[in-house]
Amino acid sequence: MGKVMWGILISFVIIFLIGLIIRQLYLSFVKKYSILLNKVQEINKRYAFYKFSCECDLSHTYDNEKFFQNISEEDYLIYQLQFYNYKNKVLNQIGFMNYNYLNFPKYQNEIKELTIKNEYSKKPKGYVVKLLNYYENKLYQKSLQKPVTSFYLKVTLYLAKINGQVYNKKEKSFTSERIKNLVNRLKNKNGDFYLDKGIWDAISRVERGRVTNKLRFAVYKRDGYRCRYCHRSQNVAVLEVDHIIPIAKGGKSTFNNLQTLCHDCNSSKSDRLL
Ligand SMILES: [Zn+2]
Repeated sequence: MGKVMWGILISFVIIFLIGLIIRQLYLSFVKKYSILLNKVQEINKRYAFYKFSCECDLSHTYDNEKFFQNISEEDYLIYQLQFYNYKNKVLNQIGFMNYNYLNFPKYQNEIKELTIKNEYSKKPKGYVVKLLNYYENKLYQKSLQKPVTSFYLKVTLYLAKINGQVYNKKEKSFTSERIKNLVNRLKNKNGDFYLDKGIWDAISRVERGRVTNKLRFAVYKRDGYRCRYCHRSQNVAVLEVDHIIPIAKGGKSTFNNLQTLCHDCNSSKSDRLL
């Protein structure tokens, strides 16, 4: 490159840098002296809106088509709302969004009054005033708070093959009203038992669905691929996993509460319980 080219390039860089410096000067001048901006800051301090920061969305992957079909997004949500930490996280976030919802209109009113009163909103004259006005408006738009004022959470259920490849999906969003309703219904309990039938059935479906194919095969392996009652092997009988303490009696889908039964023994066990 020739000397002239270098000269032009360096001039452009210098002009660009001077432009940046002037811009900074305008911005800091406006920040310091703008009555409008200072008043917005003052209002912003009085309204500390909450961020929508809840990691409340739920997702789960089933490896069994039957469970994926039987268990609804709401069933899965109800199951998780049993747990204190999760429930509290959700209820706190609902409270925060409710604060935003109630206070945002008041905030907007105060801002509106401010803009009407603002003396700088008169038509600017002159290049410098126009530029100052431009930067003021830019900073003003930036400093306005736009909080999230509604709450919802999303439940996504996936169906995957044994190799982990997802091939089906369902998804539903829940409003704070719906969630509060579910939380209240969950309060209706006696020990470990939920008295609301809809709630109890939902929790039972999810509990049953916690027997993954992996867990099922681990139970078969532990029991030597034989029915624990009649000792027939998988070569002569259809094996199933059975809850030793039934889910209807508060049993859980844990390794120790599961046993291998053949289809015949399992059916007659259910008949006895009925
Ligand atoms: Zn058997």
